[in-house]
Amino acid sequence: MKIYYEKDVDTGVLADKTIAVIGYGSQGMAQSRNMADSGLNVIVGLREGGESWKAAVADGMKVMSVEDAAKAADIIHILIPDEIQGAVYNQSIKPYLESGNTLSFSHGYNIHFGYIKVPEGVNVTMSAPKGPGAMVRRTYLEGFGIPGLVAVEIDATGDAKQLALAMGKGCGLARAGILETTFKEETETDLFGEQAVLCGGVTELIKAGFKTLVDAGYQPEVAYFETCHELKLIVDIIYEKGFAGMWHDVSNTAEFGGISRRSRIITPEAQEEMAKILKEIQEGQFTKEWTLENQAGSPMLNRMRDIEGDLEIEEVGSKLRKLCGLQK
Ligand code: NDP
Ligand code: MG
Repeated sequence: MKIYYEKDVDTGVLADKTIAVIGYGSQGMAQSRNMADSGLNVIVGLREGGESWKAAVADGMKVMSVEDAAKAADIIHILIPDEIQGAVYNQSIKPYLESGNTLSFSHGYNIHFGYIKVPEGVNVTMSAPKGPGAMVRRTYLEGFGIPGLVAVEIDATGDAKQLALAMGKGCGLARAGILETTFKEETETDLFGEQAVLCGGVTELIKAGFKTLVDAGYQPEVAYFETCHELKLIVDIIYEKGFAGMWHDVSNTAEFGGISRRSRIITPEAQEEMAKILKEIQEGQFTKEWTLENQAGSPMLNRMRDIEGDLEIEEVGSKLRKLCGLQK
């Protein structure tokens, strides 16, 4: 595996290049400001009258329409939500692409699944922080950065990887390290991670643990602290010191009970289901479902959001976080 650090990357390849960051949300704000503060030539492309136009202007960024930004730029870094990238690309970016330009992303979804197709002679690259935009900005201002990924799908100019690495360095990612990957690997592992482990898996685990305790008659507040609040403290230790560091820090009783019981929770059946979820991603079934959902105006997503909002743990958690000063 290859990791690039600051000393390995020359931002000189971007000296005569203009980078248009399309979008000024979570990633767009952080990445465009970091790259501008690193001395790169950055413009921001947005829809006129949108909320973030004002924010970008207030932050001192050079803002213009998506079309004008695409015309003016050598590198177009697309940081708007994945599900609308295809439509915005076809309407406002593709007509202005020239041979030698670079189309850049922080997630490989639209390229890997074929929703965005580029004309001949255009590079397709990825420069992606492994974390939310707020953290990308905060760690940069603290003089550090978060780890990132780099990938090249099409190298038309011969220096596509150098360009993508230089953008990552401009964002501060080379201070922590930039790992090389492919569009396929980044896209499929990212979708799997958020579905099975990070967003989907973890909320279902918390929910099931909370419900078990509440159904058994324990106070919901105590159940919340035990199954949700403390999870962060445990994950923080694993993040810094691995499983071994966590087992060392908890009691011997927790270590014995945890290791002897955990495979009854994540059973072979759960593992088989993980493999199925991965297959649905790899074979495009998930993407098809998500595209249809968007075309239909998100009926399932809206319904799921309603149900999620009505969960008892959400009510208890919201009250407790306020009482304990964790949430305003
Ligand atoms: P956001 O949802 O934060 O993007 C919002 C921005 O997109 C706003 O500036 C908004 O402008 C603009 N936008 C929305 N619709 C349109 C449109 N139709 N035309 C033009 N601009 C539009 O996105 P994220 O930052 O979360 O994600 C961007 C990319 O980064 C995605 O590819 C994502 O997968 C990737 N990524 C995200 C991470 C994260 O932590 N969020 C982590 C790693 C990668 P307006 O104010 O006008 O609505
Ligand atoms: Mg991810």
